[in-house]
Amino acid sequence: MIKVMLCGDKIFSFNCAGSFQVCEENSSRIEMFLARSGEVPVSVESGRITIDSIPFDGPVRIYSPKDGFTLNGRRYRGTITIHPSSGNPLAINELPLEMYLAGVIASEMPERWPAEALKAQAVASRSYAISCIEARTGKLWHVRSTQASQVYDGVGEESGKIWDILAQTQGQVLSQDGKSVLRAYFSSTCAGATFDSRDVFHDPQNIPGVICPFCAKSAKSVYLNWPELRISRKEAYEKLIANYPGLTELGGLKEIEITQTAENGNLIKILKVGLVGETGKTDMLYGEDFRLTLDPSGTKFRSTVCKVKVIEDEVVITDGHGFGHNVGMCQYGAKEMARENHNYRDILKHYYPGFRIEKVY
Ligand SMILES: [Zn+2]
Repeated sequence: MIKVMLCGDKIFSFNCAGSFQVCEENSSRIEMFLARSGEVPVSVESGRITIDSIPFDGPVRIYSPKDGFTLNGRRYRGTITIHPSSGNPLAINELPLEMYLAGVIASEMPERWPAEALKAQAVASRSYAISCIEARTGKLWHVRSTQASQVYDGVGEESGKIWDILAQTQGQVLSQDGKSVLRAYFSSTCAGATFDSRDVFHDPQNIPGVICPFCAKSAKSVYLNWPELRISRKEAYEKLIANYPGLTELGGLKEIEITQTAENGNLIKILKVGLVGETGKTDMLYGEDFRLTLDPSGTKFRSTVCKVKVIEDEVVITDGHGFGHNVGMCQYGAKEMARENHNYRDILKHYYPGFRIEKVY
């Protein structure tokens, strides 16, 4: 089973087509709710959860064995636990791993792509998920539902084809030593080369960077070379201090200095960014943290293979290449490899050199 953190919000839009049960986690109290049409009001205030006007204390788990749920417009299987934590309450979806993977693959790769690329995605996503479960045992949740982990939009577009892909790779994961499962990072388009995971994510198990001659033939040109991006210095500073309150000591953003890069093939990736404040104080952020703070969706500031500088009142980002963090499998590269008749084993071997496929169940 995997626990997925879906959202943190005060009000959830919740629907359930059939009857459902709500169980208070810290007591034996269970309330039954009959099937109804339309939304069930769920709100959280001062640590108390109210479901259809009935108050509950502490975390509650919602079960609907037959019908699943819709939460904030998306359908889910398994159970939903709502934690009324002091900040924003959390909604956590717990479900069997393979059901989660069906949703992840549907969200991460179009199902019309070649089967061998989808199989490579299945093994990479399964490895990533299991490594998160192992690393976060005993915590409230294992993975987020966003690109901060892997995108999971619930039942979404999952289909018979995706279930076949999962069955054909059942229990297969990537491992080096046969014991620990690899945190198998992947991203959309590397634009020519991937980078060592040790440099980008500081994980103990390194995925070495490789040259990728494939995505140039399959990715959209705006992923391979993306347009200049300008963000006002004021907006950039506000986003930085919202994510990293310690940066208020900078008193404003005066300069940005690239303090560490990595090179592979024709690409240079920013690993560390130095921030120079109006007060003269300086601080540092990792490149990926800097990028996703300025653009949390990552859809405009598409990678840190780019140039960044402050020009007058703007942070100007130019010469951008690739889409994503450039570590592990390049998805457009995998698509092209599959089109050129490489199987999923070849694809995984190319992007995760030194790792082999193990069957864990
Ligand atoms: Zn690539």
